[in-house]
Amino acid sequence: MKITRVETFVVKAPLDVPFAFSQGWVHQRAATLVRITTESGLQGWGEAFTQGLEPPEIAAAAIGNALVPVIMGQDALSPAVLWTAMYNRTRDFGRKGSVMSAISAIDIALWDIAGKHYQAPVSALLGGAYRTSVQPYATGFYRLKGQGETARLTEEALRHRESGFRAMKIKLGFGVRDDLQVMHSIREALNDPEIELMIDTNHAYGRSDAIRLGRGLSDFALRWYEEPVVAEDLQGYAAVRTALDMPIAGGENEHSLYGYNALFRADAVDIAQPDIGSCGGFTAVRDVLTMAQANGVMLNPHVWGTAIAQAASLQFIATIPVTHHSLNAAEPILEYDVSSHPFRQDLIAEPWQMENGRVAIPDKPGLGVEVNMETVERYQAQQQTFTL
Ligand code: CA
Repeated sequence: MKITRVETFVVKAPLDVPFAFSQGWVHQRAATLVRITTESGLQGWGEAFTQGLEPPEIAAAAIGNALVPVIMGQDALSPAVLWTAMYNRTRDFGRKGSVMSAISAIDIALWDIAGKHYQAPVSALLGGAYRTSVQPYATGFYRLKGQGETARLTEEALRHRESGFRAMKIKLGFGVRDDLQVMHSIREALNDPEIELMIDTNHAYGRSDAIRLGRGLSDFALRWYEEPVVAEDLQGYAAVRTALDMPIAGGENEHSLYGYNALFRADAVDIAQPDIGSCGGFTAVRDVLTMAQANGVMLNPHVWGTAIAQAASLQFIATIPVTHHSLNAAEPILEYDVSSHPFRQDLIAEPWQMENGRVAIPDKPGLGVEVNMETVERYQAQQQTFTL
């Protein structure tokens, strides 16, 4: 079934109130979406994950200039074959970052098409679902000033508890002293050991400060400590992991089976966090899951994109076996971005919500979503169409 049309949509919206994570100020939410059409008229959607500081135009340019010539006219039902072709074509200038996000978007769209063709959710094509719903955790706690926002962040934690979240991830990396103050205040205010906390510094520190922060939180029973050091410092990851008792997580800035192979060989993480919209799509994250299982590493996807990326993440989460089997084994949880995003949910016809502390995993064909073209057009900053 030939690919006959590829469309890219750069969508973005400025934020009324910019927010900061440890690496900088986020002024807009953006995404690179791709729609692929086949000769039979089937269409699939994909999304290239756009980091807070990443211009979405880079992935769109990679798709249009480098990847469309590889996939146009090829068989849409062979996503793995096309993944290999796209990777080989871009190896000398790709492998990481926006080029891999571009490959990811196309791969997700091809799996969406396959699901629609075989009338099955992507999870079924990947071998079946271990679960039909997932517990979400709140990702938020961004800064509006920078340091000294303990009171506001504590209020935010109470709000998430009110909304029904039983797990939340606090953004740190604004100075070890400030970080510790925030964490102690939040724990005291929540006053509930049943609520799981995670921390994420977005690689703000070198090894010694990363370890100092972890030691300061050694009695918090953190579910994980995310991106303690930069993604390149695999030995640093291993050093932090040796020095601290809590599980160390990372991987949102790692890509493909090759990048993850290095991560696992270095014994860098307890929990791998590939983002399906940037690690290479379903085809790559399948490989990463196999390697993680073989190395005794848990896998919990990262997701910070729009509803399309979230749909891909939900399909994949369904297919993740528990890593350390027991009657009460730890299940993967869903990153549920509660930070400001003008069009994340409006992009699809039936946005999901948390109900009774769980999010249901769609079981319709493909990604199981219907995209609102009105929303795409409203936020569209750039659009390109390529045909056979
Ligand atoms: Ca993160």
